Amino acid sequence: MFKCAAARFRVRQVLSKRRRLDYGASMKNNTFVNHPPAVQVPADNRPLVAPIYQSVKFAFDNSSETMRFLGGDREGFFYSRNANPTLRQLEMTLAHMQGREACLLVGSGVATIAATLLSLCKQGDHVLAFIESYGPTRYIVQHLLAKYGVTHTLLSIEDLAGIERVLRETPTRLVVFESPTNPVTKIADIEHLTAHARRANSLTVMDNTFAGFHNHGGYDVDIFLHSLTKYASGHGDVMGGAIIANEALIAQMRKDVVSMGPTLDPHAAFLIQRGLRTYFLRYERECANALAVSQFLHAHARVKRVLHPGLKSHPQHSLAKRQMKDFGTVVSFELDGGYEEGNRFADALTLFSLTSSVGSTESLVMTPQLLGGQQFTPAQREASMLTRGTVRLSIGLEDAADLIADLGQALDAAFV
Ligand SMILES: *Cc1c(COP(=O)(O)O)cnc(C)c1O
Repeated sequence: MFKCAAARFRVRQVLSKRRRLDYGASMKNNTFVNHPPAVQVPADNRPLVAPIYQSVKFAFDNSSETMRFLGGDREGFFYSRNANPTLRQLEMTLAHMQGREACLLVGSGVATIAATLLSLCKQGDHVLAFIESYGPTRYIVQHLLAKYGVTHTLLSIEDLAGIERVLRETPTRLVVFESPTNPVTKIADIEHLTAHARRANSLTVMDNTFAGFHNHGGYDVDIFLHSLTKYASGHGDVMGGAIIANEALIAQMRKDVVSMGPTLDPHAAFLIQRGLRTYFLRYERECANALAVSQFLHAHARVKRVLHPGLKSHPQHSLAKRQMKDFGTVVSFELDGGYEEGNRFADALTLFSLTSSVGSTESLVMTPQLLGGQQFTPAQREASMLTRGTVRLSIGLEDAADLIADLGQALDAAFV
């Protein structure tokens, strides 16, 4: 009975194909495999998980509908570099989570920074950026934009008077910042920054990767950037990036960015969409673990200073508390030692992998030597708070007591 219905269904789908392909004797199999039967799920029979539209091309029934689509007179999809239904679902989800109208997806977090800055700046523009920012962001501002005649000022994110002065005195196209900053978790005063940028007619671009999609949406930020490689996908197995803003800005940027070509693949979009189902649970638990780890480190004799926005001893704890619903999963601290102790500490850890990235289910560590900061001038280095003892931890979903035990034995091993 069931078998019979399935067979009938299959026949109906074959016959309903637009072009009445002859699946009989006349079509050779080498033709057939390139024009396989289409299966259309009935409209009242939906899959609970959206399928992956792993197709580069989409076709309409005829040339007049194709022309109508290309003229903007009808809905649809045509070429996946421009738009794809799997990506569209993720764009709608992320825009909603961040409290904005629209989203543009790209292949990595760094691609969001490069694409946004290249799309919104032109020769002669000025950009305000910050010493404490993610390294590749500084590279894009200082080297890539500079090649195209875009100038910049690099300040400390804590230099509120400097920010006011630059925005008052120098016409500035973009203010590019992040909070908490990578790697030392400084907190940007978002209200101060956005108010002064608005008054100066500058657009604010906030890399919100560390804080996540549930934080900072209430502030007057023009463009949010996220590495989806981190908390959105959450499992360390896929890369992606999201640019989130109002419709007008995204529409304007989409034209440029589509022409640069950093498209996200539909399969990656599917994995990120799946990761989001557990985003809130993961973020919450990883934050709780990070706070427990911070408190342990804070009390440890071999740790000079712990930087986690959730700790009362963090210099900007009250600002973080005002701005954020929770405090993130990155913990930085300063070992009572240098590169040698840092390397011994990392090598002795068993649950923390020595590698880059954050926001994965497993815990990660970066040593003072890997965090670098060698490119800074002495004044910039001081503002960066990077020392020869700075360690960055990204806290995962392991049991907090296990993480603390591992950190304790590794600190002992580092100072033998
Ligand atoms: C990781 C990271 C990025 C870059 O993301 P990728 O997906 O690795 O390209 C950008 N900004 C911040 C704050 C990050 O932590």
